[in-house]
Amino acid sequence: MSLASIENHDLTQWQSIADGISQQLETRLFVDGKHVDAIGGGRFATINPHNGETLAEMSEGKQEDIDLAVSAAKHAFKSGVWSKIAPRERMETLYRFARLVDKNAEELAVLDTLDMGKPIADMIDVDLPSVIDTIQFMAEGVDKLEGSVTNTDNDAIHMVLREPLGVVGCISPWNYPLLMETWKIAPALAAGNTVVLKPAEQSPLSAIRLAELFMEAGGPAGVFNVVNGYGETAGKALALHNDVAKISFTGSTEVGKLILQYAGQSNMKRTGLECGGKSPQIFMSDLPDLDHAVGSAIEGIYSNMGEVCSAGSRLLVDRPIYDEFVEQFIAKGQHAFQAGEPLDPSTNMGPLVDCESQQRVLGMIESGKSEGATLHFGGDSPADMAQGAYVNPTLFGDVSNDMTIARQEIFGPVASVIPFDGADEAIAIANDTIYGLAAGIWTSDINRALRLVKDIEAGVVWVNNYEDGDMTQPFGGYKQSGHARDKCMESLKSYTQSKSAWIRLTSG
Ligand code: NAD
Repeated sequence: MSLASIENHDLTQWQSIADGISQQLETRLFVDGKHVDAIGGGRFATINPHNGETLAEMSEGKQEDIDLAVSAAKHAFKSGVWSKIAPRERMETLYRFARLVDKNAEELAVLDTLDMGKPIADMIDVDLPSVIDTIQFMAEGVDKLEGSVTNTDNDAIHMVLREPLGVVGCISPWNYPLLMETWKIAPALAAGNTVVLKPAEQSPLSAIRLAELFMEAGGPAGVFNVVNGYGETAGKALALHNDVAKISFTGSTEVGKLILQYAGQSNMKRTGLECGGKSPQIFMSDLPDLDHAVGSAIEGIYSNMGEVCSAGSRLLVDRPIYDEFVEQFIAKGQHAFQAGEPLDPSTNMGPLVDCESQQRVLGMIESGKSEGATLHFGGDSPADMAQGAYVNPTLFGDVSNDMTIARQEIFGPVASVIPFDGADEAIAIANDTIYGLAAGIWTSDINRALRLVKDIEAGVVWVNNYEDGDMTQPFGGYKQSGHARDKCMESLKSYTQSKSAWIRLTSG
């Protein structure tokens, strides 16, 4: 059922849909247009973090399965069934693909909600509309990718052609399973490449359905392959593969650095890295609307359970408004996100992705307490949700930027408020991090806003808002947040390479 028709489902409906879907989960890999078991026969469990129950035993792809999938993708690329068809034909297939994602929104929403605990309301309001937008935007770009004829020597014509790369390996995280996969596969496919996708092992279910829908839309076999499995085996084999022209990776900075090594150890493949963040929001005392700013700060850290690469986790507040900011944050933020059953459309906070994450986040909270930050609320798990990997929204005040909670990516619902005195100190604190993914600036002074936009070291800067944007906006980081740019035409172009053709003309 399409997005428009599922908006008003209630919990009972979602539960019965989820029960039906759970009975027939596809667990195999998807290679060369067919579902196949892993060659070695291995399996791994995917768990529902809301209740700890095993959803399915998935086929565990390893090196030999990656080899098979890359070989299928290479064959499909060389055959030209996708790479050499007319751009508008590729565009039409991608449009059909986007429509099929919409048509199957109900099933896709349930798969990610069961697998990683995301509230179903977020799947409907955020993830799936963005997935559809991404496929449509990249489809629209197919015949807008242009080469050029440069202005050169009168006895020559110089053309620069844009060509696809070949086989693109995509390695994705679990926090927005379908969306992060689509940010990769949509531009890669639109540019004419073929793809092998290795989804995160915590959320393997929906990728297979995505690949099936691509074929249902008319995508040829072998163009979009999915190999589920662990990062250290399947992911590594993909990144080391000599027939892979590019690895498009989204995940932790630690693994991003490994991807660079694998590229160097193998065929010098291109890499596109989208990694971690510790994004600052700077609240100047002249900000236009404190009420709105605090509301945005709450959304910016607690939505998606804080499992957002660009989460505004460091809230830098000008000392004259510090007390009022914290007071308002406590009043509004403490109960704004309530843990609940993710399939309930009224739930806005699900569990973290697994118990390991829950323990890691609780450990970070302990470090905040022991290093002297003031715990204003949260700091524990909800007592009535003990069966799942839940952590309550948490607020620390009086944080200094050298505390662990201000330096390390927590990837959970934990906000840290750091006081500062004046714009210079704010910028110094904001930039004092290895990361540089995103930042927020709140001020009424246009000159100060522009000054801060220039001085901040981040790939995405929001002024008097946080997390707004559309498909035209390049999304990616500075420093150790990576160097790729998702969404936008720059992303589409990054899945192509240029070829220069210099043609010498003879007279007459
Ligand atoms: P992760 O790095 O643990 O895993 C990401 C992917 O890499 C998974 O598919 C995993 O199986 C794979 N992987 C792990 N080890 C590997 C290896 N040795 N070789 C090849 N692949 C390997 O990250 P995660 O926990 O899934 O995701 C959370 C991280 O992702 C956070 O740091 C978050 O900030 C980041 N993230 C960044 C963006 C962005 O756009 N910048 C978006 C979403 C998430």
